[in-house]
Formats: sequence, C-alpha cells, structure tokens
Amino acid sequence: MHVGFLGLGAIGAPMAAHLARRGPLTVWNRTAARAAEFVARHGGVAAASPREAAGGDVVMTCLSTSADVAGLLDGPDGILAGIRPGALFLDCTSGDPATSRRIAARLAERGVAFADAPVSGGTNGAEGGTLTVMVGGSAETFARARPVLSTFGKRVEHVGPVGAGDALKAVNNALLAVNILALGEGLVALVKAGVAPRTALDVINASSGRSFVSEVLVPERVLTGAWPRTFRLALLDKDVAIATDLLAETGVAGPMLELARSRLDAARDELGEEADYLDPIRLAERQAGVEIRG
Ligand code: NDP
Repeated sequence: MHVGFLGLGAIGAPMAAHLARRGPLTVWNRTAARAAEFVARHGGVAAASPREAAGGDVVMTCLSTSADVAGLLDGPDGILAGIRPGALFLDCTSGDPATSRRIAARLAERGVAFADAPVSGGTNGAEGGTLTVMVGGSAETFARARPVLSTFGKRVEHVGPVGAGDALKAVNNALLAVNILALGEGLVALVKAGVAPRTALDVINASSGRSFVSEVLVPERVLTGAWPRTFRLALLDKDVAIATDLLAETGVAGPMLELARSRLDAARDELGEEADYLDPIRLAERQAGVEIRG
C-alpha cells in the first residue's frame, strides 16, 4: 500500500517517519528543503507537487488548518489532479468540521473516501507512536483507515461522522488551554504567597486539581526552564476558536471557553506566530514579577 504524506511540520514529520518504516511512502512539503531533509533521514521519495504525492492508495495531510488543506486541492498541480478513484484521504490536521465536510464532499465526487483524523499526544507521542487519533467518517472508511493510523496511533477511535474528529480535538485542546492559563495564574500567586513551585505542583498532583499540564508539561518544561518549542501557540489559539465556534453553532453558552479564546488571542498578538503554547505562562510570570522554576 503506497502512502502519500503532505505536511512535514513539527508533528507531521515524526508521524510520517513511522509510515516510512511501514512501506512505500511519498512525501511533499511546501518548503521543499524539509521534504529533502526528511527523505535523507527516514527514506521515501520527495514529490515535486501535491498532485505527484496524491497518486497512491492513501493520501494523508497534516497542515496547520483545514483551509490550508482545501487550498491544496485545486489547480494543475493540486491533489485532485493526482488522486485516484478508490483512494483513501486521511486529514490529520486539527481542522474545523465545516471545512472537513466540504473537502469530503468534493472528494466523494471523485470516488475518494475521506476521514478527519486529528491526533493528540504532542511531538513526543508522534515520535513514540503513542498518539490518540480521533476519526470522523463512515464506519467503512474507519475500517480502512485504522491500520494506517495505528502506525503512529496507540488509541485510534471512531468518534462519529466526518467533522466529529475535528470537533472532539478542538474541545480537548480548549480544555488544555484552560488548564495552561489557570495553572499559570495559580502558580504565580502561590509563589508570591511563599510556596515553592515544586512543592505546589507536588501537592496539586496528589490532589484533585491535577491535570496533564500540572503532571507533565509544567514539571518537565517550565520548572526546569527547558521550555522546548513543540506546538505553536497560534495553532492552540486556532483550536480554541474552532471549539468556541462549535459551541456557538450548537447553541451552547460558553463563557469559559470564550475567555480562554480572548486570552490566547491577546497572548498571540503579544508574543507572535512562533511562540510556544506554554508561553502564556511566561506572560503570567512577567505580570507577577516571579518565575515558576525549581
Ligand atoms: P507546524 O507549524 O510545525 O507545521 C505546519 C505544516 O503545514 C508545515 O509542513 C507547513 O509547511 C504546512 N503548511 C502550512 N500552511 C500551508 C499551506 N497553506 N500550504 C501548504 N502547506 C502548509 O505545525 P504542526 O506540525 O505542529 O501542526 C500540524 C497540525 O497538527 C496542526 O493542525 C496542529 O494543530 C496539529 N497538532 C500539532 C501538535 C504538536 O504538538 N505540534 C499536536 C497535535 C496536533 P512549511 O514547512 O512550508 O511551513
């Protein structure tokens, strides 16, 4: 089974590396140097265009947004010019449900099955092949997609029709954002109140306020000061916007998530497009005049 993978970014590249070990792989990336670097390191073949990358049995995308995926469909070098009837299209972008449904409809006209298949688990999960994959599509498409997605996914779950994977991923990441923002505020207040940050985290992590952010992200990245850049704040902001749009569409009042969205919008304006998703904690530190290290 020949796979074409488009989008070798921070998470796309380690996902594609698993596919390179599995079987024949063609890759494409907008910045061609990244594709050349990938092939030199992991194998596979670099395609000159999305059309060329889309000629296999399975076409996979992992771009910043659904709009970016839609933008690769058309034109003489676009995906639709190369994809074959009967192929399977899996979009691992953390996308938006409405655009995914539009992409699915356009592919269906060509006899191509589509599933949105966003992932969670970060770059470490991608490298280790332990991602959670949330799949939106028909049961039949899911059955075809599962073996491919299991290459890098430990838990591959069918969560509903096309768009459902995107919706679930957006809500998951909105919860992540709330945890980051709230823990940043709480920890700087505790430091100012005289509690050592490591003690504060140890106790929270043995208590009911713990989360992935308190148990893993802050101890490994903030306390140590290592702060690797693995996930752009701009992408988390995009996810929270998808979640708040979902709440609005479904008629659900969402003041908590609206607040998280406006706080992330402001942090993104202040810190720029390349800032890391944990950098709002830096803003909380700066505002309070203390650091969470130890
Ligand atoms: P990066 O910013 O590292 O990479 C983005 C990728 O998309 C690059 O390959 C980039 O190409 C490509 N791209 C962006 N816009 C376009 C466009 N208009 N046309 C063609 N290619 C484009 O992002 P990540 O790899 O971190 O994230 C990718 C997706 O995965 C996002 O939806 C993100 O929310 C999600 N995700 C990321 C996680 C992480 O930990 N990083 C975790 C879980 C999900 P180029 O190299 O030319 O810029």
